[in-house]
Amino acid sequence: MKIQPKGLDLSETIEWVRGLGLEPYRARQIRNWLFKRLAQSFDEMTDLAKPAREMLASRATIDHLEAVETLESSDGTRKYLFRLDDGFFIESVLIPERDHYTLCISSQVGCAMGCRFCLTARAGFKRNLTPAEIIEQVIFAKRELESASEHGEKRGLTNIVFMGMGEPLANYQAVVKALKNLLADDGMNFSHRKVTLSTCGIVPKIRRLSNELTLNLAVSLNATTDEVRNHLMPVNRKFPLKELMKACREFPLPNRRMITFEYVLINGVNDSPEDAHRLVTLLKGIRAKVNLIPLNPHPELDLTPPSRESISRFQEILLSRHTTAIVRKSKGADIMAACGQLAGKRN
Ligand code: SAH
Repeated sequence: MKIQPKGLDLSETIEWVRGLGLEPYRARQIRNWLFKRLAQSFDEMTDLAKPAREMLASRATIDHLEAVETLESSDGTRKYLFRLDDGFFIESVLIPERDHYTLCISSQVGCAMGCRFCLTARAGFKRNLTPAEIIEQVIFAKRELESASEHGEKRGLTNIVFMGMGEPLANYQAVVKALKNLLADDGMNFSHRKVTLSTCGIVPKIRRLSNELTLNLAVSLNATTDEVRNHLMPVNRKFPLKELMKACREFPLPNRRMITFEYVLINGVNDSPEDAHRLVTLLKGIRAKVNLIPLNPHPELDLTPPSRESISRFQEILLSRHTTAIVRKSKGADIMAACGQLAGKRN
């Protein structure tokens, strides 16, 4: 297997180039080419001598994704389908906002969590992504926006959400490695305020994460009783609501930060006024905001979103009890790029 230097941190990169007989400062040069100048080949790294570039190219790979399809939604959202080296497919979604872009990235090929409402779960789990494959999605989008900026695009890529295919905390080590290079000054240098990891609730990993990194946490809650959550999200049988909420309550939050709770509203399943009241109770003692996501349909689903009226009624109850709640308009539904619709369809 060739080395994937985008998945190494600075000290690992130094060690690697040393082992090849290069001076340690070459590691910084290489990282600069990879993460700042977004080089696609070692050959571009012109401050390295040609023989060094050739040697590096023979031992390492830095080009991990082949974009095979781009779909653009009527709202400007773009979905990219990538082929990996071993033929599997993943998707990322680039979402335009008023003054910036948000990129939604995948952490696994498929997903093993089995949530009933999510299309990614249907295909099952294929494999974990490597740190380099995770970060490459960001590099790809940055390159796209850099070339768009030559044609007048002023908005840059500032926000990253781990809300694509897969459960990031089930691929813990690779995700943390990718996050470190995303956040590092000499990496992609994203602000930790603008990077969000979303989890279905793998409790021990939530705890571990907070000791390793600062970033935003989102938790896909989706139910207010263990009975309903067990049914919708099998992970709840292992980590029930009480434990999950305790871990959230103990998650260290920097000033004024909040945990985001995603709540997919499903008609007749989790959208009653009682659910709304129970949700307020569950969130007691947590600085929380709730993103209400009306269920996005997909062909293999026998569930439906609630009516507009019951969505507003649900939101009103939360607001009346001083719980911040927004109804999130899903972007990109017409190209199957919305929450829960990513299938990496050629897998
Ligand atoms: N595995 C992680 C990351 C994926 S985030 C997690 O569960 O948080 C994907 C989000 O889309 C989750 O909040 C999930 O609850 C939501 N989702 C899944 N299927 C959906 C659907 N059909 N409609 C709306 N949202 C959905």
